[in-house]
Amino acid sequence: MEKCTLCPLSCGADRDRQSGLCGVRSLNVAKYYLHPYEEPCISFKNGSGAVFFTGCNLRCVFCQNYDLSRAKRGKDVSPAELADIFRALEEQGAENINLVTPAHVVPPIVRALEIYRPKIPVVYNSHGYEKIETLRLIDPYIDIYLPDLKFYSPALSRRYTGREDYFEYASRAVQFMAQKPLNMREDGKMLSGCIVRHLILPLGARDSMHIVRWVRETLPESVYFSLMRQYVPFGEAEKFPELKRKITPREYREVLDCVLDCGLKNVFLQDAESADTQFIPKWDY
Ligand code: SF4
Repeated sequence: MEKCTLCPLSCGADRDRQSGLCGVRSLNVAKYYLHPYEEPCISFKNGSGAVFFTGCNLRCVFCQNYDLSRAKRGKDVSPAELADIFRALEEQGAENINLVTPAHVVPPIVRALEIYRPKIPVVYNSHGYEKIETLRLIDPYIDIYLPDLKFYSPALSRRYTGREDYFEYASRAVQFMAQKPLNMREDGKMLSGCIVRHLILPLGARDSMHIVRWVRETLPESVYFSLMRQYVPFGEAEKFPELKRKITPREYREVLDCVLDCGLKNVFLQDAESADTQFIPKWDY
């Protein structure tokens, strides 16, 4: 990761010496545990073996994992130690290994997967703002892609991340991820495939409907769509008047109607109660 160009920011940091715009030099983990609140086919019975990496190359102002994305928490781990974490989660009964926000640390994660390849599915859980060249490095080890598709409008992504090329990169990344073949076990556990997530934002219903239509028109039917209504004001949301509240039932209904009208078949929905900070994990490091 000398002159790092792993992600679309291509900031060129020499990560042997310093962190890049993503905020970390290498692997740094804030928590790993059996996470019960992913989609039912991911958390399934025992919970998903989530590993939360700190740092982020997208840094949404409303990030629900704000202290992680700004690298305020966490401890450095080596690839060998990350491999030990994979083993520990597997021994605890994890349904899968869930790599949360991995785009800016793909090479050391690949080294960990070379040291120990889990016998359970490996999930790549990301914000979608990434390069296909980087995804190709880790793709042979990934069974399930779990990307966000956050913004359609360049103006909206510029407002909340400073990047107006979000959809340009994320739409290409998601099309790459969507090629992962679907294997859903009869009892409802996903063994391989792709689930595209979208979080509805306050005043964001129109943008959300663009995303829904794009998913329907562009991605194969084997791809699942997860419509998220869990937004709660967090991070720097106080600086943005429209972000200071949860979404309204009407905003949710508009987007849900769009999902139903355009005929998306494989869909996950959330209860209104999901918009609660109690579902945000407490960090260990
Ligand atoms: S992954 Fe981090 S260091 Fe590398 S280009 Fe992106 S922001 Fe810069």
